[in-house]
Amino acid sequence: MSYDLSLSRRSLLGGVTAAAAALPFLNVSLAAAAEPNASSLRAVHRFHIGAMRVTVIDDARFTFPAPAFAANQPEGTIGPFLERFGLPTDFASLHMQVTLVESGAHKVLLDTGMGEVTFPGNQPDNGRLIATLAAIGISPDDITTVILSHGHPDHIGSCSSNGAPVFKNASYHIPPNELEFWTQKPGTEESFPNFMLGVGNAQLLPIGDLIRPYKDGDQIVPGITAVAAPGHTLGHHAFLLQDGEDKLLHLMDAAVHYLVGPEEPDWALAVEMDQQLAAETRRRLFKQAAEEKLLVAGYHFPFPGIGRIVDQGPSWRFVPMQTA
Ligand SMILES: [Zn+2]
Repeated sequence: MSYDLSLSRRSLLGGVTAAAAALPFLNVSLAAAAEPNASSLRAVHRFHIGAMRVTVIDDARFTFPAPAFAANQPEGTIGPFLERFGLPTDFASLHMQVTLVESGAHKVLLDTGMGEVTFPGNQPDNGRLIATLAAIGISPDDITTVILSHGHPDHIGSCSSNGAPVFKNASYHIPPNELEFWTQKPGTEESFPNFMLGVGNAQLLPIGDLIRPYKDGDQIVPGITAVAAPGHTLGHHAFLLQDGEDKLLHLMDAAVHYLVGPEEPDWALAVEMDQQLAAETRRRLFKQAAEEKLLVAGYHFPFPGIGRIVDQGPSWRFVPMQTA
């Protein structure tokens, strides 16, 4: 399988100088700081799906050039769209949130955030997962299960540190094709694909013995089922959390921007591996979420990234909401 990303790392992510976008925040509660790094904002948002306790952890932020969100559209398409919502037109600020699910004896992480990975456009105190877990009384050794949606650097950054697993008592679940792809040897030239492969190697090879495969429809732990959501990457999965009538569809990266994804599901994100498949996945998941009035979550939506998808004719809208 070849993966030709024509944009270089510099042109894709470089050149962004503005600092922060005005994004709506919901119900941000600050966990007690457990680390001396006073600049780290550690926010968590906690609610329940049936008996499962769900804690959304604010791990990181970065800025992304706006044209990357309409990569298959004519130049200049994205600006007026963002302007309509009062947002900056040259870049978008993305959040990253890791979800901790406590279900019976299971302590499950959905992805592992940025860890020590640095991107261009990074904020300096990114990778707050471990410190935030400490602030809420959870050590890495307490985590029983890590479920990886896909192998992009901003999702696997805390799998390993210095060549050893961070969550050494956990099983790490990843689709076999994602594992195979992101552990390919990177090339030597400086490019964004090689950067991503480098992170994949550094993060995924040390957890080899702890890795378990999963596929569409698998209930990985009671109450958490994998939902195939290919396109962003070929093995990308979303997750359905369910206890009785209570459900949450975690979109992970099926939609990356909380407005562009639902409102313009056919607009491709520059890093999508299969743009057509990504659009089909968005339409399928949004249709299901709207019809079933599912609570949804997005990994990169404004913290805590929880809301509903409502049908608005030809497309959809993400409506953020508070959860109790
Ligand atoms: Zn992502």
